[in-house]
Amino acid sequence: MSDDIPFNRALALAPGQVEEVAPGVRRLLCDNPSPFTFKGTMSYIVGRGRVAIIDPGPDDARHIATLLDAVRNETVTHIVVTHTHRDHSPGAARVKAATGAPTFGEGPHRAARPLNVGEAPRLDASNDTDFRPDHALADGEVVSGDGFSLEAITTPGHTANHMAFALRGRDLVFSGDHVMGWSTSIVAPPDGAMSDYMASLDKLGRRAESTYLAGHGDVIRDAPRFVQSYIRHRQGREASILHRLGKGAADIPTLVRAIYIGLDQRLVRAAGLSVLAHLEDLVARGLVATEGAPSVEGVYRIA
Ligand SMILES: [Zn+2]
Repeated sequence: MSDDIPFNRALALAPGQVEEVAPGVRRLLCDNPSPFTFKGTMSYIVGRGRVAIIDPGPDDARHIATLLDAVRNETVTHIVVTHTHRDHSPGAARVKAATGAPTFGEGPHRAARPLNVGEAPRLDASNDTDFRPDHALADGEVVSGDGFSLEAITTPGHTANHMAFALRGRDLVFSGDHVMGWSTSIVAPPDGAMSDYMASLDKLGRRAESTYLAGHGDVIRDAPRFVQSYIRHRQGREASILHRLGKGAADIPTLVRAIYIGLDQRLVRAAGLSVLAHLEDLVARGLVATEGAPSVEGVYRIA
């Protein structure tokens, strides 16, 4: 989508293959590739003997069977979920049924703001509204296991309940879908919110950990710098929107055509929602105006 972020679109990991990606951390790729999930969802196993599973993945019997097989002589003590999208959290129910381990996460799925009049949740099919963590985590709360501690970091924006997890003492963060090495994150109202997303990037960018393990794609090295490129990318998008509106009022399809050159047709709707996310933020900051609440049908102009 953009060349200003040092993306890594290589991933030498086949679905079903379990690999130690960092000391004490194994990963397993689910076979659910798509324009939204890259080569698939990455599930992580933290520790040895008594382990945590981070993001069990979609409700995919084969993936969960492989995940459980990888820990067959071990005990799962924690099931941790970064956020409630269908490619991340539904597998928690199967892992819990098989192991009895409790689930941890920020909370059930919720929108970032109330729906506007006549508005339907746009990417509703991607939401897992069934997940209820046994333990709701607050920002900074630490999940302690046998030989590992995971610090919960609230990172709303991609979803309202998104959490990243720092593996204490290991210079490593599980960044979920908030920061990914292969692509920008989708921020789609009403479930996502750009102002929250940018604040969450600032929050992660101030942390020292150098390595991120994301929900999709390969390891991110030099993570603080990568986060800064993510921030600059969003600022660039915002500048492009303001630049186009500087030439005259425009609706969202016009803005998408002006800003996303060569966009995969399957991503046009998501791009429109991303532009809406920026416009919501710009209207809230008083830089852009529209009739009524910002919506996908609205026409926007410089305030
Ligand atoms: Zn997601």
